[in-house]
Amino acid sequence: MSKNKKERNNMSLTHDYSSTLRKEEVLVVLLDKSHFYQTLKEDMTLFSEKYRFTLHTLCSEDDHIEGKKSDFKIKHLIYISDKMDDYHLEEKFSKFCSHFNSMTICFSYSSFLSFEKSRDKIEEYKVKYGNTVNFLRPDDTSEPIKPNHVKILDNSVCDTVRIKYIAKNISKNLNIPDGIIDFFKKCSLLYEEENLFHRASSDGFFAFKFNSDIYITSTKTNKINLNLDRISAIHSYDPKLNIIEYSGLYIPSSDSVEACTIFEKLPELTTIIHTHASEKITRNNSLKKYIIAPPLPYGERKLGLIISENLRNMTDHKWGILEDHGEIFTSNLKSTTEAFDEVKQNIINILSESAKNELDRIFNLDSKENIKKLINKSGLECSKHKRDLELHVNSPL
Ligand SMILES: [Zn+2]
Repeated sequence: MSKNKKERNNMSLTHDYSSTLRKEEVLVVLLDKSHFYQTLKEDMTLFSEKYRFTLHTLCSEDDHIEGKKSDFKIKHLIYISDKMDDYHLEEKFSKFCSHFNSMTICFSYSSFLSFEKSRDKIEEYKVKYGNTVNFLRPDDTSEPIKPNHVKILDNSVCDTVRIKYIAKNISKNLNIPDGIIDFFKKCSLLYEEENLFHRASSDGFFAFKFNSDIYITSTKTNKINLNLDRISAIHSYDPKLNIIEYSGLYIPSSDSVEACTIFEKLPELTTIIHTHASEKITRNNSLKKYIIAPPLPYGERKLGLIISENLRNMTDHKWGILEDHGEIFTSNLKSTTEAFDEVKQNIINILSESAKNELDRIFNLDSKENIKKLINKSGLECSKHKRDLELHVNSPL
């Protein structure tokens, strides 16, 4: 694993999500200096009421920033600017860091080329600020290219209160069967070994259904060296009231609504593994044929309904890509060992396909020297294939 990625694993949580945050504990400050998002302020106000956080909007960084001396437990900034070539950016980041626990930064770029040119600088910032700063990838490709409205809106929730459902704890005590503990441990190892995350090792979730309970990782859980206390069991989900009843010490995954919907619509399923293998799978152009859901807000029933509908129609494989988001791998097998093996095989197969496609593309384009650089730079990190490729490029012509 690269040094940068390791550093991104060091998660210091301002809240451990053992309880739901109250509106007066969470501050989101929206500072939009662009003129691209006409209804963002209104939509985020609605989100703040629906998902229970306090929202302040600013017009300039010189405005008085509320909450500096207040009791907010989480203070998150969403900073939107139409230019990245701002000489005072470092200065601004330092000022922001003294006010906020975390930040979402949204830049727009005049063209794809200018975005490409900025990538190294962004990577530098990611290393410097770690998990504190989230740079939203520009995915709205009409120029100027910029992060889309829905994604910015979702960020006001996913970096703060996290869940869009109402969590109702039935018991803090939870006895997890040994086979299921084993399953989660193996998922954690695979997740680490194949780097199945993008922004942080809290991305995604592991879930196994046993006797009508869904065992699932809790929200904002580090999936590497998984702490078994962070497995919860969902007993029920009421779509009308949007309530999830669960047992365990921590609130279930913020994707629990999709997970419950998929398990409900496909009752034969036992297993769902959700990953964010960005360059290798999610955003790999050669794998677009596997997309089963368009970009949609996370944590909502609609996404679960679309995923289950498409999984139902599949005959040859049981997994798919959620566009610009991540992957879902599933199994119907009742044995935790067999279900894990099936999911693992599908993950390895698709990583191999991705690596092979990437190799074909590179061989058509470049010299061996460039291939070596690209192996290290690209998302081509499927452990087996990376070794194969390194052997290949190190061999004499
Ligand atoms: Zn996800």
